[in-house]
Amino acid sequence: MNKRVPSNKRYQPTDYEHAANCATHALWIIPSLLGSSLLHFQSEDQWERVSAWVYGAGLSSLFTVSTLFHTVAWKKSHLRDVEQCFHMCDRMVIYFFIAASYAPWLNLRELGPWASHMRWLVWVMALSGTTYVFFFHERYKIVELICYTVMGLFPASVILYMPEQAGLCELLLGGTFYCLGMVFFKSDGIVPFAHAIWHLFVALGAAVHYYAIWKYLYAPPANPVRTSR
Ligand SMILES: [Zn+2]
Repeated sequence: MNKRVPSNKRYQPTDYEHAANCATHALWIIPSLLGSSLLHFQSEDQWERVSAWVYGAGLSSLFTVSTLFHTVAWKKSHLRDVEQCFHMCDRMVIYFFIAASYAPWLNLRELGPWASHMRWLVWVMALSGTTYVFFFHERYKIVELICYTVMGLFPASVILYMPEQAGLCELLLGGTFYCLGMVFFKSDGIVPFAHAIWHLFVALGAAVHYYAIWKYLYAPPANPVRTSR
């Protein structure tokens, strides 16, 4: 582990940490593509198919972009601008990943008349977050963290009150993994391999959420809820 850096600088991982950062997300690219395909093939209507694609795109691009960024960051030396660009993409894709993770629940479950506005509101939030990263990337790190937290938790206010509650435990469990992971996200230079541990928490949260989406929204035997959309 290298020394902790001031909050306006970026932590420089050791070679071992770089390798771990790449591996802990690269490992999930193929499973996320396969998982997304499974949802596509189990879709029974157009809405399910669209939601499967949106969610699958968010899930697989999170792991792909993250792996690309960490690979470039590891081998950079003469690629500073490219690294910066990938780092921005890495941060932007998180907003889309959060929106995409909520999308199947928001699209396929029945929501109240007001709550249903969250279907488009999550994408407005994702776009706002992306715009923020574009203009203020790494300038106010605490604001970034607050944005991710708000984006991650705000749509839950709708999900928690869905008339059909099946899957809520898994959603809360996945959310807990993301929140626990954020402790490590902020622990570079304090805990060895902190960023790789953060990646593992993300993968764990994503796996639990995938399972919930598959089981409660797509898998045929446990799919009693068909909403009028
Ligand atoms: Zn990362």
